[in-house]
Amino acid sequence: MKKDFTPTLLDLGPLQIYLARHFGFCYGVENAIEIAFRTVEENPGKRIFLLSEMIHNPQVNADLQSHGVRFMQDNYGKQLISFDELTADDIVIIPAFGTTLQLEKKLNDLGIQTEKYNTTCPFVEKVWNRSEQIAKKNYTIIIHGKPKHEETRATFSHASANAPSVVVKDMQQTIELAKYITREKPSEQFYEEFKDQFSENFDAAKDLERIGVVNQTTMLASDTQAIADYLKQVMIAKYKPATIDNHFADTRDTLCYATLENQQAVSGMLERDADLAIVVGGYNSSNTSHLVELCEEKLPTYFISSEEKILSAKEIQHYNFHAKEELLTSDFLPQKTPIKILMTSGASCPDALVEGVINRLIEVLDLKISTEQLIEQFH
Ligand code: SF4
Repeated sequence: MKKDFTPTLLDLGPLQIYLARHFGFCYGVENAIEIAFRTVEENPGKRIFLLSEMIHNPQVNADLQSHGVRFMQDNYGKQLISFDELTADDIVIIPAFGTTLQLEKKLNDLGIQTEKYNTTCPFVEKVWNRSEQIAKKNYTIIIHGKPKHEETRATFSHASANAPSVVVKDMQQTIELAKYITREKPSEQFYEEFKDQFSENFDAAKDLERIGVVNQTTMLASDTQAIADYLKQVMIAKYKPATIDNHFADTRDTLCYATLENQQAVSGMLERDADLAIVVGGYNSSNTSHLVELCEEKLPTYFISSEEKILSAKEIQHYNFHAKEELLTSDFLPQKTPIKILMTSGASCPDALVEGVINRLIEVLDLKISTEQLIEQFH
């Protein structure tokens, strides 16, 4: 069935908000949060740790911390609490992105059971299964993802247990990787250029003759498709079309349903004329940054983590994820009525934050609208 991706219009008179048809919490995040809070409830008195941030959302993580949960690593794998501090009595929750086989073994060796408190999203596990299928057919696994992202590190660990694997972060790196396939670049150079992105004993001279592509679940769909198509064309050019199956595993992308639906809903929303877009989510959230990227192509876009970032009707504090810095922009709202705003949020963002942003806009614009009138709009 064809899905409907037209946005919902909240017509508040001088303010018109187009809400994306799909936004916010995905199955994997909801499931992980539920397991985490249930674990806290069912284990009074026990020390509960999280391998890293549960999801990329500061509010949810702060909520968990206020319930006594402690994070062992930061987002980039930097140790905050030493593994030496753990005992077999402790509970360690594995987050929705999953973890590496090495870390899982380390915990099991300490006597800590991980199965019961493993919140790895089934859509991430699907990527691992896909890599395994590709590996069984002796293809090298190319992972399109952010090399330092927890999910990509976990996928890389699972993939490289079965086959030679290499991570490419974007099209630029893919083009460079292809030069080792075509021998335009000498194999020896590969190890420096792809440092920390290839598996142990990777042989750049041999391991790029048969390849298959998987991706981090939250990448931009168009990027992932372009990368797979590009590599396929490189293989066709090198090995002739008739033998392509021997050199390129034809698989579909491994983006998750939430990533796809949220991106398609943004494309639907962008068909509406508007003055600006507001995207709500954690600044280190991969899927949210891709929604921002889509909006930025069409109109001024403000990536904010909560309603507090709207300082007044004049000023907004927002995140530039390209430069990785927060900026202050003045006069972000146009001097006209109605002001038309497109709005969405990432898969790790609670819906309450979107509601908070809508309420904050109503407040700074001094619109006399009651909650009841607002709710009526949804009907
Ligand atoms: S964004 Fe997708 S893969 Fe990630 S937790 Fe949500 S449903 Fe799972």
